[in-house]
Amino acid sequence: MKKPTSKLSSLQPEQLAAWATEAIKRSKSGQIPAYVPLLARADRQGFAVQIRAIEGQILSWGSAATTFPLMSAIKPFVFLYLLCELGETAVFDCVGCEPSSMPFNSLTQLEIDKGKPRNPMINSGAIALASLIPGKNAIDRCQNLLTWLNQRAKSQLFVDELMLDSVNANPNQKNWDLAASMVESGYLHNSEIALETYNRVCCLAGTVEDLAKLGMLLVSGGDAAENCRTVKALMATCGLYEASGRFALRVGIPAKSGVSGVLLSVIPGEGAIACYSPPLNKEGNSVGGLFLLEQIAKTLRLSVFD
Ligand code: GLN
Repeated sequence: MKKPTSKLSSLQPEQLAAWATEAIKRSKSGQIPAYVPLLARADRQGFAVQIRAIEGQILSWGSAATTFPLMSAIKPFVFLYLLCELGETAVFDCVGCEPSSMPFNSLTQLEIDKGKPRNPMINSGAIALASLIPGKNAIDRCQNLLTWLNQRAKSQLFVDELMLDSVNANPNQKNWDLAASMVESGYLHNSEIALETYNRVCCLAGTVEDLAKLGMLLVSGGDAAENCRTVKALMATCGLYEASGRFALRVGIPAKSGVSGVLLSVIPGEGAIACYSPPLNKEGNSVGGLFLLEQIAKTLRLSVFD
């Protein structure tokens, strides 16, 4: 019997090239974040995408060799790692699973929730989870996550030390305030090691190929299928911060963005789409990445709600 083929594998290179070219044009309306000096120097026109279909086809366009820090796109993988290593109870004792209608670094949201981070996809949640990663210090913890991910995904992520220096050069007061509030409420014990680990894992870097390979971990699930389902559910409801609900209606695909301009989308039963385009909209999501994904999802009818 012939295996059913994915819709994703029917995408034509010419069609992808046309959408990507339009995405670069549209990205001109976005802003490059200024709070990390090295991120601020990103090429506004830089663009790369890789699509991996479940049967193995790979379609790429743009600067395949460009590496970038994953920033918040690492959050689903910190979450996955801890679900697999520590189990659901330990993880959900530390973070909630509800969407937030406030920005990703909102202290107000945390205070409304009495110090318990609302979900793992916003900064408070990821800082709290960073504190649970096993290891004696931040370097060790990040290395444990890195080794785990690279082995499973066959990716070549690395720590972008220059980016980390740049992040550390301008301590992020909002993240410090979130950590201090969580210490006060008892959800965090040591804010220094949590923030150091968080900043380091946000500086894990790679190409769109590496990011797409990480995405495939969540598609196939393997021996972690149940945990992957949990991660995808929270990507769908919380992955694009306060824009998540609107995105679910328009596109309907679990996705996670990062402030470096990355957008990773995971389509159950189909494959993964990793995109890099630095200019961001007001919610901190990549303008070009969102445009491209919407075109692909609408044309191929990829919404998980279809
Ligand atoms: N490290 C970044 C920060 O804390 C990650 C945020 C993001 O990518 N949205 O600001």
